[in-house]
Amino acid sequence: MEQTVNNRYLLDVSDLLRGDRRELDVDATVEVSDDMGITFIESPRITGKAVNMSGYIELSAKLIVKYETVCDRCLKELEREMVLDIKCPIAESLENMDNDEYLIPENGLIDLSELARENIILNLPLSHLCDENCKGLCTKCGADLNHGDCGCVRVEKDPRWSALEHFFDED
Ligand SMILES: [Zn+2]
Ligand SMILES: [Zn+2]
Repeated sequence: MEQTVNNRYLLDVSDLLRGDRRELDVDATVEVSDDMGITFIESPRITGKAVNMSGYIELSAKLIVKYETVCDRCLKELEREMVLDIKCPIAESLENMDNDEYLIPENGLIDLSELARENIILNLPLSHLCDENCKGLCTKCGADLNHGDCGCVRVEKDPRWSALEHFFDED
């Protein structure tokens, strides 16, 4: 019912399109290139079903993504899991369809790897923090400030105080 070509997981929906079948279970482990700043702990998995809704096919599935990344502030390694709901209408062609949100199979095949990749990119958080109160690394010595203060003086220069610097110099 399915095939993998060049690491792409292709779901065969031709039976559904012809009306020979009403439902098709989907349980696929898909290869997705992780060139988006994360490392997959295991290959993303899509589970759900594709159902013939007379006129189009609806793919509804969960996409489970387990990945590793690092905290944006302290660089600690983090493991994260995303579970995304995918609802995707599939039509044989865009003819007679009221909008262009339909996925059109190529030779009866839907590329689940590409579908997973698009959904991951759309839903990946813009930032990853080990904790929203993460103190990050010292800009001077690189110490992890979550483990306590390193003792460095890290005063950001504020132009309003520059006049006072001379005041202290004179002491
Ligand atoms: Zn952190
Ligand atoms: Zn320091």
